[in-house]
Amino acid sequence: MNFIEGTRVVAEGELQSHSITRHHVTKFYREQITNSGFYDQLKYVVEPSIKEFESPGTMDTSGEHDNTVVPGLQHKYAQTGLLLVTDRCVSYCRFCFRKRFVGQDSDEIALDFAQIAQYIGGHPEMTNVLLSGGDPFVLSTAKLDKILDHLLPIPHLDSIRFGTKAVAYEPRRFLDPALSALFQRIHEACKTAVIVAHFDHIGEISVDAERALRSLRAQGVQLLNQSVLLANVNDDPETLAETFAKCHQIGLRPYYLFQARPVKGASHFQVSLRRGLEIAHGINQRLSGIQKTFKYIMSHRTGKIEILDLGADGRLYMRYHQSKTTEKIGKIFSRPYREGACWLDDLLEG
Ligand code: SF4
Repeated sequence: MNFIEGTRVVAEGELQSHSITRHHVTKFYREQITNSGFYDQLKYVVEPSIKEFESPGTMDTSGEHDNTVVPGLQHKYAQTGLLLVTDRCVSYCRFCFRKRFVGQDSDEIALDFAQIAQYIGGHPEMTNVLLSGGDPFVLSTAKLDKILDHLLPIPHLDSIRFGTKAVAYEPRRFLDPALSALFQRIHEACKTAVIVAHFDHIGEISVDAERALRSLRAQGVQLLNQSVLLANVNDDPETLAETFAKCHQIGLRPYYLFQARPVKGASHFQVSLRRGLEIAHGINQRLSGIQKTFKYIMSHRTGKIEILDLGADGRLYMRYHQSKTTEKIGKIFSRPYREGACWLDDLLEG
């Protein structure tokens, strides 16, 4: 098998026992990153590394199993339902926090949408659903329409959100004329269609992606972007400031910058929280007020934690942006910082 570090002979069983994600990259993305001038950074997004055999961590860093209420439906935060609609992606990111199932046949995927709709129908506090996976846009538009048949009649759902990296990996997917009808159905059901794209680096934003996003905007789809802070890919403020400025220019609002998670086989992508804060502050220093719409977030088992600053007292200050425990939301808390810490669990209480 070809790794970034060179060729190595590996047995199928060895790949499985280390949960090495399938290697698949679209021709489109390969050409885009080759021609972008950033191949040396972006190759880490999709090309396997030998480090994947050694990186420590766990497979479910956000407690997704614990929040699953019906197979394929997670209900962690009161207002949001998270649906795993597929275990497949357009290309596979080496840093994926769902590497426990992407690219494989998984029983974590939603099959019974009637049962899911029944659960959502009984939870009026849930105002939005996020279709995720895997990447929902690997599914045919007809299959997505079938899922919507179950979701659109639910009156308390205000928005239908799609989390996707397909705008980077295969942007022409969004020029499918049947998708316009799908978004129109969402609007006619008095709900907002939201696409949360996933660009980690300005070199991923192709001309075709811009064209697809312009077309989606014209169809009234709200557009947000999330990124992951990745060692050797985008761990400098210039790159991310340029990426976010470009997103802003094309109508894609920077939303979350995620701290990479301590995923087994992918924790070599983590940068320290100290470096992450230097980068987040550096990005903000380079952007205008309307461009700096992102939050630097650690998506922890206990909730979405905004990483605020490292104080002169040596403590890391954070705030719960989302939590299962409603009273925690908005509360600032701190822990003594330990050099090299990359995750909340690396910091002791005290
Ligand atoms: S597209 Fe998303 S779900 Fe798929 S491999 Fe990348 S990060 Fe994981």
